[in-house]
Amino acid sequence: MTYSVSPIGHIRSCFKEKFAIPRQPHLAPAARGVLEFVPPFDHPDAVQGLEHVSHVWLLFLFHQTLEEKPRLKVRPPRLGGNRSLGVFATRATHRPNGIGQSVVTLDAIEPGRLRLSGIDLLDGTPVLDIKPYVPYADAIPTAFNTIASAPPDGIPVLWTHEARVQAEQHGKRLNEPLAALIEQCLTQDPRPAYQVPPPDRRYGVRLWDVDVHWHYPESNVIRILDIERADND
Ligand code: SAM
Repeated sequence: MTYSVSPIGHIRSCFKEKFAIPRQPHLAPAARGVLEFVPPFDHPDAVQGLEHVSHVWLLFLFHQTLEEKPRLKVRPPRLGGNRSLGVFATRATHRPNGIGQSVVTLDAIEPGRLRLSGIDLLDGTPVLDIKPYVPYADAIPTAFNTIASAPPDGIPVLWTHEARVQAEQHGKRLNEPLAALIEQCLTQDPRPAYQVPPPDRRYGVRLWDVDVHWHYPESNVIRILDIERADND
């Protein structure tokens, strides 16, 4: 038997590509976005009472990694990409039905949309449902997960003077905490685990409408080189 689902809205996110998105929500509190409802969910009735809630669960589709053939085992990046685990032991994006879930901060309720932060969602992500976070039921003090027992260790993120000035300028223009967002994402070290790049190799990612470039002057240190307005935004 098959069931069909349809989005209640879509995410407009700071993240314009999958690369450098943190692996879970709240690793980058400065990661902000907007959930734009589609009719009929853009009606105020649908969010009445949500002002009593600080955080919400989002159920969404990993729309950029949907696959026809289900995988039983996956190689989570968290384990360096060289150890496989059962798909149900992971939060991998490649999974049956392609459903993701994230607890995010609800910053504001506006007509037809919600302002969110701490997100780990790509721009355009279709959202299937929203549920209020219920601390007494959802936060389990005795819970453990020995595969992912703590947030990943961050690596140092350095700035060139030029990049720091550019981040402040673009952050003001966008009215977004851009410098914090860049640091919070890059300290997660987005490069694939097996890559040991030479210092002259430049990496880049688009956040909001800017392209951020960096390199690795040492194996586990990032230096941000420049931040430029994207050409084709
Ligand atoms: N918190 C969610 C969960 O546990 O279901 C997502 C975890 S998943 C490991 C996080 C990664 O999903 C991000 O680093 C990003 O690369 C990827 N991602 C986010 N939105 C996506 C989308 N719409 N389609 C495909 N991949 C996406």
